[in-house]
Amino acid sequence: MKSELENREPLLNIKDVLLRLIYETNYTEKLTNIGSIMMKYLAEKLDGVGLLYLRDNDQDPFQFNACSETALLSYFNSVTLSPAEIKSIEPKAGLHALQTIDCFNGKFNSLKGNVYYTLMLYKEECIGVVVLSSPIPIQSFLKEELLDLLEEFTKLLYQVRRHLHTTKMGKQYEQLFLVTDKFHSSMDEKEVLEGVIHSLKELYPAATIDLLFLEGRSRETVLDSDASYVFMTGEVRKVQGSYDQDIFYVPLRGRQGIYGVLEVSVTHQHSLYRKDIEFIQLLANTAGHALENARLYQQSQRLISDLRLVNEAAQHLNASSGFNQTAHYLIERLLKAFRSDEVGVLFSNNENDWETVPGSTAFFFEEGSRRIVDNIRHKVLQTEDSLFRGDLWKEFSSKHILFRSLIAIPMFQDQHIMGLVIMLHKEPYHFTFDGFKLVISLVQHSTLALINARLKEELEYRVITDQLTHLYSRHFLNEKISESFKNGEGGVLILIDIDNFKDINDTYGHPVGDKILKQVGRIIQTTVREKDIAARWGGEELAIYLPKESLEMSTEMAEKLLVLVEQETDPQVTISCGLAMWTQDNQTGPEELLDIADKALYKAKSRGKNCIHYFI
Ligand code: GH3
Ligand code: MG
Ligand code: MG
Repeated sequence: MKSELENREPLLNIKDVLLRLIYETNYTEKLTNIGSIMMKYLAEKLDGVGLLYLRDNDQDPFQFNACSETALLSYFNSVTLSPAEIKSIEPKAGLHALQTIDCFNGKFNSLKGNVYYTLMLYKEECIGVVVLSSPIPIQSFLKEELLDLLEEFTKLLYQVRRHLHTTKMGKQYEQLFLVTDKFHSSMDEKEVLEGVIHSLKELYPAATIDLLFLEGRSRETVLDSDASYVFMTGEVRKVQGSYDQDIFYVPLRGRQGIYGVLEVSVTHQHSLYRKDIEFIQLLANTAGHALENARLYQQSQRLISDLRLVNEAAQHLNASSGFNQTAHYLIERLLKAFRSDEVGVLFSNNENDWETVPGSTAFFFEEGSRRIVDNIRHKVLQTEDSLFRGDLWKEFSSKHILFRSLIAIPMFQDQHIMGLVIMLHKEPYHFTFDGFKLVISLVQHSTLALINARLKEELEYRVITDQLTHLYSRHFLNEKISESFKNGEGGVLILIDIDNFKDINDTYGHPVGDKILKQVGRIIQTTVREKDIAARWGGEELAIYLPKESLEMSTEMAEKLLVLVEQETDPQVTISCGLAMWTQDNQTGPEELLDIADKALYKAKSRGKNCIHYFI
């Protein structure tokens, strides 16, 4: 009886079965295909059922897949196979025991009769469970054969699975290598982000990928608490999306912070394993670092250009140019560097009036702009502080304002606001806060230069100007006459003396005398041309020098003045004029010219006043 058993032909021809398996699966790498063909074969042989539970390598420990009996699956996942148990089973021991599951008898639709299971152990690793059922108890020799077959089958699955795993890892690291390489060579934020998305799409074609919390990409989900949580904490989070969707939030982490959140949505069918999430995290970290680098690079570029701007401006402003030139320079810089639509400089003049400095853009000279400009000025004067507004529409609850972005910076001198720089743009939030700070620094640098230029010009004006008549001073006139002689250009000097001025003083008093002097000064100023120099010679004597002018033309002007003074002064006065001319041909000097003019004036007086005289 014993020898009969030993000599019997085996029921299962292992080599044939395995060859058939490879042939029928058409060399596929799909574990489930291989598994289902094998189970079908076993089911036929036993006239029962064969079920395969594969443990996924990447899944949380000891979770099994690929089973129609979900209750059975949960049995294996929860009861039978705690991690400790699996580790404690010797590979051989597991394979040799095709254990009976008594408790299942009759409980499952597909499992009728006797139910057995064996762990698929190879190299101290459990890769799955095979569950078999048979209407009659399996005899011991068949058990042995089954276990031998399943041992070979386990080896095969193990190798295929390892191969699949290696291929997948290879693909992932190839992608990682590609993007890392790309990231290192890129200082462009957009390129980095596109790289991440592209790689993820390559590896997980079934997933929907989005980037959240990036500047300019603020989707509604910013309010999503899960995504926000990830953005704040930097921890990966998995949430249940719509009914069959999982959403994974993975932070884009750099050294100094979190720069965004990757949102990966997949259906349950394509859900991601722990290893996938670890990989995505790795990729996201790489991207986070690259983003950080790109931002730091852009920031440093910005700082460099800011520094350059301030430096250039400081240099330029120190090169002591005039007030208008300085203001022009500042305005031009503010227009260019900050792409402002309008830039204006307002300056307080002596009469505590505000003038719009030449060089300010057209808007500041338009009558219609006065209200808004005054408004801004009042606010700055009132708060004694700069204004930085992102949207004036909101501020004034009105859409009738042409400009929405505003920067206004006061210029201080000894705690008094001397001036004001206003920058405007039609778009809301056009100016950045960094830009605002930079403008403050630029304006501070310019303030001293502008005030100094203004003081210098005022001083110069005072030196060459007579305070009462606002005509030039005698000193200035003398200088111009000397210059004219040096240039040898010829010219005419008209000396003017108010007739009987002593009587005016005596009759009306000195202040009225002063008023007359001012009136005569103004008449002269409006009569002379740009190139003529009208000055107060001293007392009630005035003078005009007309460079390169003929005697005829000069006489005409003097005659005209005679008429105008008599007509327009109140109380009425008249004047007398003495003219002297020099040319390249006659050998006179400045003193001689004055002397001749003086003599001519004396002559005019002696001829009865209110007339002109010249010597030919
Ligand atoms: P003539 O027609 O001969 O020039 O007579 P005149 O009275 O104008 O001449 P005179 O030289 O005798 O007197 C000049 C007067 O002008 C004397 C002086 O008080 C007055 N005068 C000079 N400078 C000023 C000034 O700045 N303001 C006023 N109100 N008077 C002045
Ligand atoms: Mg006089
Ligand atoms: Mg006089």
